[in-house]
Amino acid sequence: MNGRKGLDYSIYKSICIKHKSEYAENQMLMQYTSFKIGGNCPLLMKPNSAECLCELMAEFERNNERYKVMGKGSNLLISDNGVDCPVILISSDLGKVVFHGDEVICQAGMPLISLCKEVAKIGLSGLEFAYGIPGSVGGAVYMNAGAYGGEMKDIVKSCTYADEKGILHSMERDEMDLSYRHSFFSGKPYVIVDVTLKLKNGDKKAITEKMQELMSKRIEKQPLEYPSAGSTFKRPKGDFAGRLIESAGMKGFTFGGAQVSEKHCGFVINKSNASFNDVISVIKTVKTRVKETSGKDLECEVIIWE
Ligand SMILES: Cc1cc2nc3c(=O)[nH]c(=O)nc-3n(C[C@H](O)[C@H](O)[C@H](O)COP(=O)(O)OP(=O)(O)OC[C@H]3O[C@@H](n4cnc5c(N)ncnc54)[C@H](O)[C@@H]3O)c2cc1C
Repeated sequence: MNGRKGLDYSIYKSICIKHKSEYAENQMLMQYTSFKIGGNCPLLMKPNSAECLCELMAEFERNNERYKVMGKGSNLLISDNGVDCPVILISSDLGKVVFHGDEVICQAGMPLISLCKEVAKIGLSGLEFAYGIPGSVGGAVYMNAGAYGGEMKDIVKSCTYADEKGILHSMERDEMDLSYRHSFFSGKPYVIVDVTLKLKNGDKKAITEKMQELMSKRIEKQPLEYPSAGSTFKRPKGDFAGRLIESAGMKGFTFGGAQVSEKHCGFVINKSNASFNDVISVIKTVKTRVKETSGKDLECEVIIWE
């Protein structure tokens, strides 16, 4: 995978320099993922403006260069061999927010948790469900992240994205094909640049209390003390992945450093310096056992880069 490590990426570096955007070469991606797993990336770029991002993408297109896009890395499982192409990291360097009444225009790199706190401070309601989801705003739209009865679909009004040529487009919510952990962007080489949310005026105290209540539930139920990517599997129709996994006798199942959490069977955790292959082995074994015991197919929610 690292065969192209020695390639000259100077054109992309010079675009970053021109726009005063950060970049770094030969970065271990484990530093950027909530799973704390992931090998080398030859060039990691953090565009700080839509202009920089679009110029990079136009240059990738011109050179027929593959690239990958990452937000806060909280839904990614990345090979220990890393990736053999540049990665665009949509970070808080592209994370400004502007308020217009009950509408919020937020750049994609803003952490969702920070946005929850910002909107609570000014008494805007609707985003409480997302407090505790450790992704970026762009990653949350890409995944149509959701929890406790809410999902991004309920509050997104529109977004701006860059296509593979680096051209910006606006898109309304109805065109975004938002459904359970899926969006128009799933599997496409586009980059979400900003998102407009439509919230409602609410009571600051009630909003904060709701957020704290949901955070307490997470702390109580989820193995937040270990690195993971949250729920490893999508919820199968009419059931819960965690319940099926527990019924299959897989609670605490361990391979190498990876384990089916004893606290919440829906989470595969990095218990102790797990490798990519450790996690993959646990995932494969869980899928097989669940199929044998319940006849149900589990599908990964976590996105795998190998
Ligand atoms: C402890 C824990 C709890 C979690 N709880 C929940 C939960 O309750 N509900 C839930 O839905 N998820 C949950 N997650 C999963 C994860 O936080 C969400 O899926 C989140 O939306 C991912 O955002 P991200 O920025 O980390 O995306 P990443 O993991 O960086 O990327 C995920 C995908 O989105 C793409 N992507 C990211 N940003 C962009 C962008 N700007 N433009 C285009 N594509 C982009 C990437 O290419 C990748 O394909 C949890 C994870 C953890 C670790």
